[in-house]
Amino acid sequence: SRSGFCKANSTFYTKRNPLGLPANPSLDVTTFISSQPHRGTTAFIDAATGHSLSFSDLWRAVDRVAECLHRDVGIRRGDVVLILSPNSIYIPVVCLSVMSLGAVVTTANTLNTAGEISKQIADSNPTLAFTTVQLAPKLPAGISIVLTEEERVGSTGGVNFVGSVSEMMRKEPRGQRVRDRVHQDDTAVMLYSSGTTGPSKGVLSSHGNLTAYVARMLTETSMHGTFICTVPMFHTYGLLTFAMATVAIGSTVVILRRFELNDMMAAVEKYKATTLLLVPPVLVAMVNEADSIKAKYDLSSLKTVRCGGAPLSKEATEGFLEKYPTVNIFQAYALTESNGGGAFIDTVEDSRRFGTSGPLTSDVEARIVDPDTGRFMGINQTGELWLKGPTIAKGYFKNQEATNETINAEGWLKTGDLCYIDEDGFVFVVDRLKELIKYKGYQVPPAELEALLITHPDILDAAVIPFPDKEAGQYPMAYVTRKVESNLSEKQVIEFISKQVAPYKKIRKVAFINSIPKTASGKTLRKDLIKLATSKL
Ligand code: AMP
Repeated sequence: SRSGFCKANSTFYTKRNPLGLPANPSLDVTTFISSQPHRGTTAFIDAATGHSLSFSDLWRAVDRVAECLHRDVGIRRGDVVLILSPNSIYIPVVCLSVMSLGAVVTTANTLNTAGEISKQIADSNPTLAFTTVQLAPKLPAGISIVLTEEERVGSTGGVNFVGSVSEMMRKEPRGQRVRDRVHQDDTAVMLYSSGTTGPSKGVLSSHGNLTAYVARMLTETSMHGTFICTVPMFHTYGLLTFAMATVAIGSTVVILRRFELNDMMAAVEKYKATTLLLVPPVLVAMVNEADSIKAKYDLSSLKTVRCGGAPLSKEATEGFLEKYPTVNIFQAYALTESNGGGAFIDTVEDSRRFGTSGPLTSDVEARIVDPDTGRFMGINQTGELWLKGPTIAKGYFKNQEATNETINAEGWLKTGDLCYIDEDGFVFVVDRLKELIKYKGYQVPPAELEALLITHPDILDAAVIPFPDKEAGQYPMAYVTRKVESNLSEKQVIEFISKQVAPYKKIRKVAFINSIPKTASGKTLRKDLIKLATSKL
């Protein structure tokens, strides 16, 4: 079998490289990243303007911004700082400076409505927000903001304008910065995820978690090169990879504000990029548009497409390799709650094993557990994947109940994914047990939509399930129980929700049902509804 894969007492793990975790309990993750030997020259390039930051520019910028935040804005250890911004070369600067102060980085999906963002802000209570002129009106009045873009524009609504990142970067340093002592157990990042059940919750990732993640990424050999970043940096995948891993490794990252297929391909050609980091729907779009893309752009530099965040179908993989025979697909599997821990493909040889998300990462132990009986399963047997290790998040913010449900007393994270692990330690994701819907890689928590549906005067009960879709992966579908006298239509239900949520959360299909099937304890039998919805396919 593959070297390094072991199984002992129903636990699986890979021993590839020693992680070399720092023993210093007061080391913050920013210092850990900055203390890596410098291997690269250019850290970030803004694809739209060509403006770039070298690694020395980056670290100077991190110091200046941290000093401004500490001295002028009064940010202290434990304060929460929100980033609500499209991708920008300044996001890594902001993230690294905030973490260096022992303050907590939180993010919000830029597509979310003002209402959804206020809800999240009421939960996380940020002291300061980094945002843009366009997005500032989504923030509640009174909040202090710093712009992540160059231009300083007069009107930003009711918010309190503090300055811009580029101004902060230009400020002369005033000397010794007073830093609070940061502990490895302190929260560094709080990203929102619905986990296995319920609405979105803040996931508490510590400096120790992220240090372990970066230490493991330093051992992966496939992360060197020139990357194009189009995945959103408000999500774990984009933030951890591009504000932390590639910085520590010394790779160059070309940043696009947001995903657009032609812009992405033009950037590959212009910057001779070696690696794209994508979610499956983008890979599918690359397959569908392959002929026009290949006619327009020289993609000869492209060697690797990294793909994660959602399941990649066999057809998409085969279609891609047929259209782009010189490019390899390297899959990865992780969760917001596991900070990169899970599965990760690092070699061309491993990428040829189709259907797998990759071998277990060296920073986790894994178990496969029968979801019905709790029995631990063996090699090639399917069950819920549990993960344990130094990257597993501390839990959910202000939600001990959800924390206890998700991470057991021994520290095992229940992923809510149905998987099996083969004799070589490769993880295969078979299905999702948890409620979560992923539309184009974005999290859609059904509980949030169900809570909105039952506020409609004609709706007695409702359940939201994933409906499979070739392009998006899945989209939300609602089963609705109407009041007897109601003639509420599918269109009316769809419109009622779409007025209240971000576009990616829209319900795109509705079916009416006499009653929602439930267990004796009142839990919705989602699997029955999924079976019902897909039986006609
Ligand atoms: P998030 O916290 O938004 O990153 O969502 C994590 C979830 O996305 C996982 O629990 C899986 O259900 C799904 N996921 C992520 N990567 C993969 C993958 N490579 N294959 C299948 N599902 C994935």
